[in-house]
Amino acid sequence: MTGRWDVIVVGTRVAGAATAMLLARQGLRVLAVDRAHFPSDTISTHQVHVAGTARLHRWGLLHKILAAGAPATRRARFDTTAAVLEGRFPAHEGVDMLISPRRTVLDSILVQAARDAGAEVREGFIVAGVVSDGDRITGIYGRARNGPDVVEKAPLVVGADGKHSTIADAVGAGRYRERPTASFASYAYFTGVRVPSGGFYLRPDVAAAAFPTNDDRLLLAVFAPLAGFSAYRADVERNLYRLLDRCGNLGWLAREGTRVERIRTTPDLPNTLRVPQGPGWALVGDAGLVMDPITAHGISNALRDAELLADAIANDRLATYGAQRDAAAIPLYDFTTALARYGPPSLRERLLLRTLHGRPRQIERFLGMFAGTVPIQDFLSTGNLLRVIAGGAFGLRPEARTAATLHERPSAALRHHPRTAVHNMYRGL
Ligand SMILES: Cc1cc2nc3c(=O)[nH]c(=O)nc-3n(C[C@H](O)[C@H](O)[C@H](O)COP(=O)(O)OP(=O)(O)OC[C@H]3O[C@@H](n4cnc5c(N)ncnc54)[C@H](O)[C@@H]3O)c2cc1C
Repeated sequence: MTGRWDVIVVGTRVAGAATAMLLARQGLRVLAVDRAHFPSDTISTHQVHVAGTARLHRWGLLHKILAAGAPATRRARFDTTAAVLEGRFPAHEGVDMLISPRRTVLDSILVQAARDAGAEVREGFIVAGVVSDGDRITGIYGRARNGPDVVEKAPLVVGADGKHSTIADAVGAGRYRERPTASFASYAYFTGVRVPSGGFYLRPDVAAAAFPTNDDRLLLAVFAPLAGFSAYRADVERNLYRLLDRCGNLGWLAREGTRVERIRTTPDLPNTLRVPQGPGWALVGDAGLVMDPITAHGISNALRDAELLADAIANDRLATYGAQRDAAAIPLYDFTTALARYGPPSLRERLLLRTLHGRPRQIERFLGMFAGTVPIQDFLSTGNLLRVIAGGAFGLRPEARTAATLHERPSAALRHHPRTAVHNMYRGL
């Protein structure tokens, strides 16, 4: 006799609700539970990069998120000590925008989409642990607030319950590529000020983001080395403005506007991957892969992994999920944890940023790397960097370069005029 559920999903925010929705759309019987009641906020800023936004579009949800008032950002400013780059995000699957929905909006739309697809979503249900038959996980136990203990059984339990996942701990999912926490984050909302596009700011020892979000509010967020957290916490408000003052005109914007809501601050920013599947269980979202928010990719990661996991489950190849996730995630994970070291840009990075300046096509590709649509390993490959830097040093406009020249050996330009090229590159610094 088969049980009532094919899959139980624990946690119904971006990872869990998306997984439940995709599985229910494939005709599986899904129970999804969350201790929260939606709409519900969580400590997170809101940038969904182009790759994640394209998934929401493909799932038929983007128009609902935009209709709920989440502003679209098609242009971004990338502001560093070496150069200020401004440009468009490259289109991916017909989508060319980053969106910044409040989590109260995004998560509720996903929860409703899971219900619309046929999943049963129980809010206010706290999972205390898993049940097993000795060899494999066979279900969960928990309770609604003030309710009796409940056991629910299914051949597969998905932990989508965030970075302190009860499910991952209960099944003993091993950690790997773990890196020490590097940052703390602090953010606030302002009314009465607008920015023409979104912006990322990188300075030694501080990074910041400025993006419009729902209700005509401007989100200003700072990320800084964990070592400074105690001093920051001693006077959060003053220190938030102090850090914003170091990032272009963000301090000015904050003072021009009116701060609404409290300032949210957290040092709880781990970096780790966990083995994401085993007998009768799987992990998705932060439960299986959490990284510093400095690149603002956790939501997009969760949406990507929900799709990978749902496809793997529906096609009976769960064993391949972990390798697929890691292939997609690790380059960005390594890039993110390196960025969270907050050092000044290396010579190579300064050269790159300087030579990108004023070159819209290359800036688009650079922003595409942050948007999750241009593979990091391609953009940052030595060959590509040499091509970009050599192109900039010779004043070549990338638009004028043909496909054939892009496939030339990367050092071709340098081989012709090695001294001049290198001299010019250094002189530009
Ligand atoms: C300061 C900060 C800023 C960030 N900014 C960005 C950004 O701009 N862009 C971006 O892409 N990412 C950002 N992130 C990361 C992003 O918030 C996470 O990657 C994302 O929320 C992960 O989604 P999730 O669904 O996996 O987990 P979560 O959002 O953590 O959801 C887990 C859910 O599980 C439920 N749950 C947990 N335990 C139980 C239990 N025992 N029983 C029942 N329910 C349970 C919780 O109630 C919760 O609703 C940021 C993170 C932080 C901390």
